[in-house]
Amino acid sequence: MKDLSIRDVRESITIMRTEKIIVACDFDGVLHSFISGWTNPRDIPDLPTEGAIEWLKHILAMGHLYQVVIFGARVYHWGGKKAMKKWLLKHGLTKEELSKIRFVYQKPGCRFLLDDRVICFRGTFPSDIEILNFRPWHGKDIW
Ligand SMILES: [Mg+2]
Repeated sequence: MKDLSIRDVRESITIMRTEKIIVACDFDGVLHSFISGWTNPRDIPDLPTEGAIEWLKHILAMGHLYQVVIFGARVYHWGGKKAMKKWLLKHGLTKEELSKIRFVYQKPGCRFLLDDRVICFRGTFPSDIEILNFRPWHGKDIW
C-alpha cells in the first residue's frame, strides 16, 4: 500500500472539515459502467452507467448541501485522477462542476456512500454463502 503523502492527508482533512453532507461515490462500477473490466489506471473505456452523469450533476447543483467525493483505485496511480477528470468532462460535466468534486484514493468518512462492492450493514453479518455469491451489478470481478 502506498504511504499517504502530505497532499493526501491535507485532502482528507479538508473533506472532514466540511459542514456539508459528504456524498462519497466510487468511480469504477458506479459512475463508469466498467463493462470492459479493469485494463489500466489511465484507460477508461466504457460509457457512464445509465443516469450517472445526470445524478452527479443534480448532486453537484446542490453544492450548498453536499460535498461530492469520488474515490477509486485510479487516484493512487500516476495519471489516474487526470484520466477520471478527462472522462467526466468528455461525458458532460462542465469544468465548473468538476472543480467542486474531490478525488481521493480511499473511501472518506462520509454520511452516504455509493459503491458497487458493498452490502449495507444493518446489524447482521453476511454468511460465507452471501460473501462467496456476492457479485457487483456489472458482474466484473477484479480478484
Ligand atoms: Mg467499484
